[in-house]
Amino acid sequence: MPKIYLDYAAATPIDPKVLKTMMPYLKKEFGNASSIHAFGQRALSAIEDARNIVANFLRCQPEEVYFTGSATEADNLAIQGIVKAAKSRIAKPHIITSAIEHHAVLEPCQYLKKQGCEVTVLPVSKDGLVSLADLKKAVQENTVLVSVIYANNEIGAIQPLAEIGKFLKQSKTKIYFHTDAVQAVNYLDCNVDSLGVDLLTISAHKIYGPKGVGALYVRKGTAIEPMVYGGGHERGLRPGTENVAGIVGLGAAIKEVASPKNKIHNIRIRQLRDKLIKKIPKIISDIAINGSLEKRLPNNINFTFPGAEGEALLVALDQKGFAVSTGSACSSHSLEASHVLTALGLPEETAHSSLRITLGKYTNEKEIDIFVLALAKVVERLREISGYKTKTNGK
Ligand SMILES: *Cc1c(COP(=O)(O)O)cnc(C)c1O
Repeated sequence: MPKIYLDYAAATPIDPKVLKTMMPYLKKEFGNASSIHAFGQRALSAIEDARNIVANFLRCQPEEVYFTGSATEADNLAIQGIVKAAKSRIAKPHIITSAIEHHAVLEPCQYLKKQGCEVTVLPVSKDGLVSLADLKKAVQENTVLVSVIYANNEIGAIQPLAEIGKFLKQSKTKIYFHTDAVQAVNYLDCNVDSLGVDLLTISAHKIYGPKGVGALYVRKGTAIEPMVYGGGHERGLRPGTENVAGIVGLGAAIKEVASPKNKIHNIRIRQLRDKLIKKIPKIISDIAINGSLEKRLPNNINFTFPGAEGEALLVALDQKGFAVSTGSACSSHSLEASHVLTALGLPEETAHSSLRITLGKYTNEKEIDIFVLALAKVVERLREISGYKTKTNGK
């Protein structure tokens, strides 16, 4: 049985080079980075090296990078931390976000709404894109934060961050701009100044680094409060003894992303993804592609197969050794239709018949060829079971 992994948006394997860089900090370099002695100082210096790599990648100052325990934590810190600080100035802070955010952004916004904040959730076009015009209309006097994902994790749609950033900069009152860039890091420019963002979230395990480590960029001068209190680590914004090996791993992963070799990987990934886009409609009839084809991450494709239920597709493919996903991994245990696909205007039933395929740097052409054939068989069988009548003779 093949073991073919096409779920890189959920998790990526650790790059052997990244693991090698981390290993000393899981073994003999175990010092606490807050200790004065040499063990501690070597750990501290490793953390600061990683911070410099991240800062260089984001084109910001090292002091503007805060390591966290995940991107979920970084998103929460950005949103709750900004609102907490704003509450000393504004009684009822207003947040603007979009309908296609990751749960790590949507849920803290919903929580803050229950706590008395105002929240506007911007709709998206049928292609999955936020419009600047909608954002402009949503801004109010009490708006303190806009949080828009850089590239969506389910449909790969790339949002117009630079446009939004430029507009927000002209605002009379200070409106902070946060983006969840987790899925974008591997493929898109993350220069915080050209994007015009004040806060930006990244995660190591989506870019061939370890799980359990993320980072938040916070522009100097931003009014933000911590969520937890303790020993003053990360300049008091995220206390807790640093995950030295994890942070070193995040730094090493970013170094690989920034390397010229990664550009070559990304070109190949796009070619393989485009092969899927070309081949699948040729051998499976009545399919639809969800999300923009132009403004899309090169490793992502999301199909709807009417008459074949997504969960059943996933399970049948899993039994044959293929790992894919319906929507996001985080919602895979819920029976609700993907909030991203329904935001595109898909009816619930259609959203339930969708599959996300995400490629990575270890994907090869043979895997894609084997996968397409297996997928066609599984879709055909499920459609037979559901009694689906194909509309065309595409098969
Ligand atoms: C995976 C993911 C997260 C969560 O990252 P963790 O480090 O696993 O908490 C947040 N946002 C997006 C867009 C993601 O894809």
